[in-house]
Amino acid sequence: MVTNLVDFHCHLDLYPDFESLVQECERDGIHTLAVTTTPKAWPRNKDLALGMKFVRVALGLHPQLVGERAHELDLWKEYLSQSRYVGEVGLDGSSPHSKSLALQKQVFEKILKLCAEAGEKILTIHSLRSVPVVLDMIETHLSKGSCKVILHWFTGTTQQARRAADLGCYFSVNARMSNDHHHEVIRQIPITRILTETDGPFTLRKGSACRPRDVQDAMNNVAVAVKLDIRVVREQILSNLAELER
Ligand code: MN
Repeated sequence: MVTNLVDFHCHLDLYPDFESLVQECERDGIHTLAVTTTPKAWPRNKDLALGMKFVRVALGLHPQLVGERAHELDLWKEYLSQSRYVGEVGLDGSSPHSKSLALQKQVFEKILKLCAEAGEKILTIHSLRSVPVVLDMIETHLSKGSCKVILHWFTGTTQQARRAADLGCYFSVNARMSNDHHHEVIRQIPITRILTETDGPFTLRKGSACRPRDVQDAMNNVAVAVKLDIRVVREQILSNLAELER
């Protein structure tokens, strides 16, 4: 079965059935970006995704963990040459993480500089309550290089979405981005820059953690926002992914 779905931000390693879920994504043909929250998770994720056609792994250091794990940046750096994909990284200005924001900025700046230096990286970035500074940092460090950025679960304004699009950013949209404001934001994003995600297991569907196949809900959400047929949206997202990874 090939479903032609794209779940470009999912924490596969945080599910109790991590190993079989990797197999499931591969078998079902779900283009999945398995993001990680600490570089300590890299070796096992990398091994499990080895040789997979549909599952890729991103090397992460989650901003919500930076308060306690900033020292893991050294390990992150050590693995960087092994990975084309980077994430989850970024900034989180929400309480209770705002108290580590200065440290988060230092770590994120180093991550962006190292990515820019290495080139050809694809980053999935968290920007909760910190969109303007995240965009400033992307502009400073990545706008001229060969790296590409996906803003995951974007919660900024329509104006910030347009600025991000002008900077070349992609956006991975999930099913929770479904109110009128989110739909207006989605309409401001060029359709060629839209991808889909679940951010599972941090999002729920009927009371249980979303699984990659539930990314259909995100695709439906995009279709409703942009008022296009779901089949058109599916094809567009697949072609956006191909362009992103070209
Ligand atoms: Mn996430």
